[in-house]
Amino acid sequence: MHVLVLGAGVTGVTTAWYLRRAGFGVSVVDRREAAGQETSFANGGQISVSHPEPWANPSAPLVALRWIGRPGAPLRFRLRADPAQWAWALNFLLECLPARSRRNTAAIAALAVHSLAELRRLRDAAGIADAYDARARGILHLFFDKLAYERAKARVMDLGRHGIELRACDPEGCVAVEPALAYAHSRLAGGLYAPDDESGDAMRFCRALSNVLAGDGVRFHYDAAIEQIIAANRRIDGVEIVRADGNRETLQADAYVVCLGSHGRRLLRPLGESLPIFPLKGYSITAPVVDPVRAPQVSLTDESRRIVCSRLGERLRIAGTAELNDYDLAIDPARIAAMLEWAATRLPGAIDPQRAEPWAGLRPATPGGVPIVGRGRHENLWLNTGHGPLGWTLSCGSAAALATLMKGEKPALAFPFRRTPR
Ligand SMILES: Cc1cc2nc3c(=O)[nH]c(=O)nc-3n(C[C@H](O)[C@H](O)[C@H](O)COP(=O)(O)OP(=O)(O)OC[C@H]3O[C@@H](n4cnc5c(N)ncnc54)[C@H](O)[C@@H]3O)c2cc1C
Repeated sequence: MHVLVLGAGVTGVTTAWYLRRAGFGVSVVDRREAAGQETSFANGGQISVSHPEPWANPSAPLVALRWIGRPGAPLRFRLRADPAQWAWALNFLLECLPARSRRNTAAIAALAVHSLAELRRLRDAAGIADAYDARARGILHLFFDKLAYERAKARVMDLGRHGIELRACDPEGCVAVEPALAYAHSRLAGGLYAPDDESGDAMRFCRALSNVLAGDGVRFHYDAAIEQIIAANRRIDGVEIVRADGNRETLQADAYVVCLGSHGRRLLRPLGESLPIFPLKGYSITAPVVDPVRAPQVSLTDESRRIVCSRLGERLRIAGTAELNDYDLAIDPARIAAMLEWAATRLPGAIDPQRAEPWAGLRPATPGGVPIVGRGRHENLWLNTGHGPLGWTLSCGSAAALATLMKGEKPALAFPFRRTPR
């Protein structure tokens, strides 16, 4: 059976890997010139198993209200006259209810734990462990507010129940975990250290894995923009693409997997497939390290500013912010300035701010934060998409599970897969 994977971001290339390993013939189509050029290009780099709580949680509405109108706010909602966007925002609020948030956290945690194990197996099997600036040094969640830190300590027990280790550290303990924090330590209230978490460059991972796959018979159609997905009698018949030279073509396969990030919703809507996915824009800067002692080895999450930071070889990646702002990818200089200011105060002297490369990407977010993995409404259509702020973390696990489903087997995972065509 031949499967066409739509999209060559981190969810698409991992899907291609697991399908190939399961014995399927596989092709991948993407509008860009290579794999990992859109949302997977310059994300925060964290394999963040220790943060399964979705953004839709009981404290989110209050936090959002507190940030309204503040120029450097990490959250920004710009609602437009688009009923789908309003519906998404209302569903987001519903998913903030405690019971729903608990259920979503459990699903994400189960998938994240599974995904980390799969990532470790995959990189060894594919021989790409050294290809993406991987670092298995954990993630340290930082708190600069005493009350927030005291509250957050409950996570040690909560995450323990999901099999995720977290250690509470006082400011000295934080510096022991990450000596580069010595310069910010006087302002620290404490930290939560997740020793099993990792970090790495998702784009380089995509590039390395796609090269391995190309050598294993997977055909990549790059510079091929999908114009429409063609369907008849509840089956997908093909995918109409336009190549860079303007030539049109229809690609056909026995089955199709949608891994199109924030763009799947628009392409599937004409077929009556409605995906509850909206883009949540975020920013990053990537800057060369100028003082290796001042640049952290452990990946950091500053919980007070919603900013993450990962060491990628001789570069530092700093990422954050969320804007519900449609598909606009324009870079707001104020956002970049806020990240540079963060680096200057939290990690003074670590990077060269003059050479920082700004970037913006669109997290494909579902209201509850749980990705959509399983069957579409059409018989031969499958979905592996909507990974929101955790696509790098969850990609290997959801791709492995999807390949298991497509083989007709049941993944051993407590996760709400979409199982039956409706
Ligand atoms: C600022 C920021 C920080 C983040 N930090 C982290 C982090 O630290 N850890 C983490 O786990 N996750 C993080 N994420 C989330 C993560 O990056 C995403 O969830 C993940 O990259 C989504 O992967 P994807 O494959 O679904 O989408 P994409 O990477 O966007 O891939 C979709 C692909 O589909 C292709 N495509 C789209 N439309 C078409 C079309 N019409 N025709 C052909 N091809 C098409 C695109 O070219 C693209 O290659 C972050 C995201 C952002 C924005």
